[in-house]
Amino acid sequence: MTKYLWIAVGWMIAVSAQAADERVIALATAGDVDAALVERVRAGVEEYSGAAVRLAAPVPLEAGQPLDVVGRAAVQTMEAGDFAIIVLARPLDDRPQGVCLPDERFGVLNVAKLEVGADADKLARRATQESLRVMAMLLKMAPCPFPLCVLVGYDKVDDLDRMSANFCPPCQDRFAREARKAGLRLIEKSEPAAAPAEAPAAEAAPETSPAAE
Ligand SMILES: [Zn+2]
Repeated sequence: MTKYLWIAVGWMIAVSAQAADERVIALATAGDVDAALVERVRAGVEEYSGAAVRLAAPVPLEAGQPLDVVGRAAVQTMEAGDFAIIVLARPLDDRPQGVCLPDERFGVLNVAKLEVGADADKLARRATQESLRVMAMLLKMAPCPFPLCVLVGYDKVDDLDRMSANFCPPCQDRFAREARKAGLRLIEKSEPAAAPAEAPAAEAAPETSPAAE
């Protein structure tokens, strides 16, 4: 009897250990933020970081709310599997470009600041870069001194347009290590899946010229 009990306990531990590897980053909006922008940021962050990002419900935004108040409201909407929440916010008055409080598990980005002088593509790129920076901060990674890295320091928002959109290789490794430690679900890179479907078609027309013999 006790043996069965131990087996059951062991199984439960195995299941909960697996569940711990299924944590995700939640991405929410607050205020008037374009749904297409949010989806581009979600897809871009997943692609560059390798960590799963889920779209969360919008967070209510009131006039005059500071970004940290928005962040704390967002934390209240988090689900059990969420590691942290990133909010793309459009505050109703002038606010800083962003705030990230790793101990409180949130980062809030001010879209109104990011879109100055940017079209839709540029805004999506900037918001993705800033979201990657927030994710690195949430995992308590340090800024990077390497100029070709999204984690390098910068001054003005349009500096982002000249910066890398991606982690440098050491930061990428470090991010993957920290993400695993935090129990984040890492997604497979998608390149190998596309290859088999196209390969036969490319090789289907070899030169079979009988005249050559
Ligand atoms: Zn780096």
